[in-house]
Amino acid sequence: MSIGTGAKIISFLAGISYTFIFVYSLQDIEWYLVSNPNYGVWRPMAENVEFNALESNSNAVMAVADTVRTTLGPKGLDKLLIDQAMNRHISNDGVTILLSLRAIHPVARMIVEIAERQEQLVGDGTTTAVVMAAEMIKEGKRLVKELGVHPTKVVEGIEGGVKEACQLLERGAKKISLDEIALDQVVKTSLSSKLDGKKLSLLVISALRSVEKNAMYNGSYDFEKTIMVLRRTNMEDKVINGIVLERKRMDPEMPLELKEARVMIARLDLKPVKEAWVKENSKYAEILNMENDRVAKSKDLVNSLLATGANVILIASGEVDQVIENLLVANKVLAVRISIEEIEYLSRYTGAKPVRMLDDLKKSDILGKADHIYEDEDNGVIYMDNGSRGGMATMIVSGTTKETSLERWRAAIDGINAAEAALNKGVVVGGGAAELHVIEKVKNLRLKGLEQVGLDVVTSALESIMRQILTNAGFNGLEKVMAVKASPDTFGIDIDSGDPVDMWKMGVLDPLLVKTMALEAAGEIAKAVLRIDRNLAAEDLSQQALSETKR
Ligand code: ADP
Ligand code: MG
Repeated sequence: MSIGTGAKIISFLAGISYTFIFVYSLQDIEWYLVSNPNYGVWRPMAENVEFNALESNSNAVMAVADTVRTTLGPKGLDKLLIDQAMNRHISNDGVTILLSLRAIHPVARMIVEIAERQEQLVGDGTTTAVVMAAEMIKEGKRLVKELGVHPTKVVEGIEGGVKEACQLLERGAKKISLDEIALDQVVKTSLSSKLDGKKLSLLVISALRSVEKNAMYNGSYDFEKTIMVLRRTNMEDKVINGIVLERKRMDPEMPLELKEARVMIARLDLKPVKEAWVKENSKYAEILNMENDRVAKSKDLVNSLLATGANVILIASGEVDQVIENLLVANKVLAVRISIEEIEYLSRYTGAKPVRMLDDLKKSDILGKADHIYEDEDNGVIYMDNGSRGGMATMIVSGTTKETSLERWRAAIDGINAAEAALNKGVVVGGGAAELHVIEKVKNLRLKGLEQVGLDVVTSALESIMRQILTNAGFNGLEKVMAVKASPDTFGIDIDSGDPVDMWKMGVLDPLLVKTMALEAAGEIAKAVLRIDRNLAAEDLSQQALSETKR
């Protein structure tokens, strides 16, 4: 055989393999490698795992995550939500967007649930949780499909990594107090991506400072009990020292305003005599008797109410007899109907003890106080100010339309929640910097065997936050992340200039709790999704059916 022929054969063979690569897509080859048990040194461990469910589930998660990831951070964009009736709503809030999505894949619904839980537990960081969950699933899927790591190994790696990262974040967190500028900065950071965030953050900060230490319960802050946030469309934004009830006086002839008011909260039965009972008694005299009796009883009742000295009565009973109402008007009492839910904070604010039975009226400590109570007739609200007692504030958050007021209202609550979390558990640097700088330490963690590769899942997620925030700001996210990786631990990227900066100095701070919760939530969902190897159609999975089969 001549040298020429040999060369021809070699080039022919090379030609075949060349064609081979081109004809089959890269995915096919991967599939071939993964599914061939005898292939090379890295004999796949996940050979019994079906990929179809993982593929479709992770695609579904990605699709949902993609709808919110572009909202992350101060330069994130808004989404326009439109329903079938063409109602529209513009939102930048992860959980709002997710909850309004129609007909989504059942696995993707898990993402929505996680976001919802995050919202309930810490009230912020929902997009962060979703972005990290998606990143974990993407990376986890790669390990399972491409490297053939068994899902349980990946899951254990995620568990270890998340725990370690949370501990590292905790170690790097800083305690702050109510009077520190850091508190203002946390609120501003949290609201930076929101509609009108600057103005709202000033409002939130002023509310926080006005209730101060009164928001402390059992050693930690709980602003839900001390700051009420009202959503209005026709009023100016403001913070009021005191309570604003979205109610009117029971009767327009009652006094509009009272100072140094003595307040009673009535849970008494003030119902009229049952009409049915009257109808059954056809005798005129009997009815008249009953009517007289009703008036007499009502008079007695009102007299004993007034004997306590109360001139403001907050009524939490279902129905009130017209005679009783008339008597209250005649006696210049300012009566307001309230709901059972309102009793708790009104009682706390005024010091009034709810009166449940007539006997209670004899007690000496049932009345509370209000320095000033008045109705704003134009806006249909009642203000109750208790400067001398203090302790509660109401934020009125407005908007030109119902949608904007709703969005701003949610944002204000997010801001309050962020402040609460920061005061209770401390803060870390924001912009994804805190997460980025724990990566190297997480990598140092030594897990047994293949679980180690599961750590990559967590580190990718930790990196994804800064990357996404910067991508959303128009930078090459990956490039910027690489640029700041080697900087000191508090460094991130200035969102405007794109230069590395100290995030502490910039005042970009996030509550630790928001970060750790988001990371844990993301880990939970990633673990759940990665462990599923099949989606099956089931008959009936209602609680009943499940519990019965378990027995
Ligand atoms: P989430 O729903 O997760 O709260 P947001 O859209 O509110 O999402 O974005 C929060 C993220 O934006 C946090 O990681 C926060 O640190 C970051 N962020 C806020 N302000 C800045 C800023 N000026 N520079 C960089 N990152 C910022
Ligand atoms: Mg937020």
